[in-house]
Amino acid sequence: METSTAQVIDRTTSEPPVVREAWKQELAEAIRDPAELCTLLKLDPSIAHHMHRASQSFPLLVPRGFVSRMQQGDPNDPLLLQVLPRPEELIDTPGFVSDPVGEQVARRGTGLIQKYHGRCLLLVTGGCAVHCRYCFRREFPYAESGASPASFASAVSEIRADQSITEVILSGGDPLLVDDQLLEKLIHDIASIPHVRRLRIHTRIPVVLPSRITKQLLHILHTTRLTVCVVIHSNHAAELDCVVGESMQRLRQVVPLLLNQAVLLQGINDTAESLIQLSERLLDLGISPYYLHLLDPVRGASDFDVPEHVGVQLIEKLRNRLPGYAVPRLARENPGTPSKTWLA
Ligand SMILES: *Cc1c(COP(=O)(O)O)cnc(C)c1O
Ligand code: SF4
Repeated sequence: METSTAQVIDRTTSEPPVVREAWKQELAEAIRDPAELCTLLKLDPSIAHHMHRASQSFPLLVPRGFVSRMQQGDPNDPLLLQVLPRPEELIDTPGFVSDPVGEQVARRGTGLIQKYHGRCLLLVTGGCAVHCRYCFRREFPYAESGASPASFASAVSEIRADQSITEVILSGGDPLLVDDQLLEKLIHDIASIPHVRRLRIHTRIPVVLPSRITKQLLHILHTTRLTVCVVIHSNHAAELDCVVGESMQRLRQVVPLLLNQAVLLQGINDTAESLIQLSERLLDLGISPYYLHLLDPVRGASDFDVPEHVGVQLIEKLRNRLPGYAVPRLARENPGTPSKTWLA
């Protein structure tokens, strides 16, 4: 078993070992070795061999709990396909670039991105608990973006100086990857800015590492004066098993607004049936479908692309089958526009 502890090692030689929180332990034990993933899922070992090169530039990373929701022996499992490094990623496709949504030009300063009126997005950390192969930030230069605790103070002063900002979005990477003390301090500092009313958290962690929804985290979200909205990221109903259900139930007790954003992905959720099941499952858990994003054309992800007209047809089918509030907005990110573009 691989036991890489690079991200959360927390031991000193003279002191007794610090007891790690369960979620940190789970993250340390996440799967990073293609061969191990293949063994666990009873897949042909040659798949691991093919993964090797693609995983050098953007490594495999997937928590064991997420793997346990995959079907053994199925190389086309919709959860597996989201995390499996494939040789095709290394083939250049025209139009698929390193910064597809124009974030480089939108960077205001230390870790802050503002593209839209009233909302700014703070990159809390570059790390994630899972590496999604279609991620539009897979090539984002986090190291230079100021996405680190050291820059939070200047980000907070920048928000303080701009009265037009009423909502701060914590993003990343995954903002719930940082620990509770840091998060508490950051949220406290943001809440001290009178013109900020809302805090939004964009995170995939409740889905891929549900043990992260700790009592302490719930306490922080419950006690801030800001109105909190958590936007999770799930693409398929099979991601939302009962363990995720329980953590969402806890979150729901303190967070008044829970939303989901999904990405429309070829071979994963590009059928009406799959999207209907996702919406139904989200509603079971008290989460409203918010956006269904068309893929951002990031280099290496062209295999996941679903044409816009297919997306529009899928949304029409959903409208005929589901209550209006269960139908997500189909959206695309166009660099330089004042909002995301709604396509259906
Ligand atoms: C998507 C996004 C937002 C949020 O947009 P909403 O339409 O309010 O959900 C804010 N800032 C950036 C940079 C974004 O990409
Ligand atoms: S969790 Fe979000 S930011 Fe992280 S790799 Fe997946 S899509 Fe990208």
